[in-house]
Amino acid sequence: MARKYSSKINKIRTFALSLVFVGFIIMYLGIFFRTNMWVMTIFMLLGMLSIIASTVVYFWIGMLSTKAIQVVCPSCEKPTKILGRVDMCMHCREPLTLDRNLEGKEFDENYNRKKMNME
Ligand SMILES: [Zn+2]
Repeated sequence: MARKYSSKINKIRTFALSLVFVGFIIMYLGIFFRTNMWVMTIFMLLGMLSIIASTVVYFWIGMLSTKAIQVVCPSCEKPTKILGRVDMCMHCREPLTLDRNLEGKEFDENYNRKKMNME
């Protein structure tokens, strides 16, 4: 079975990292418009905003990490963190769950969404 999901914390981290890159690309593009002061300023500001946003996301990961439950993965025996009802091991991508009812079932990220709707 192909495991296309990755651990949530890793996913957010990838997102934050891509924001940094996007920010730098936007600022780099601004250099091409250096003849036009205003356009360049707008590009620089957008790039800055993107980098600031990534800092915020990184901060948010830190907050999430403290709330995540630390467990030892039964598959690779390394400590990993679970966010929500189902998540994946950060090291071997083994699907993990805190809910006994879901044990043995196929990994589905929708379990997290269903729980959110009920609350
Ligand atoms: Zn593992």
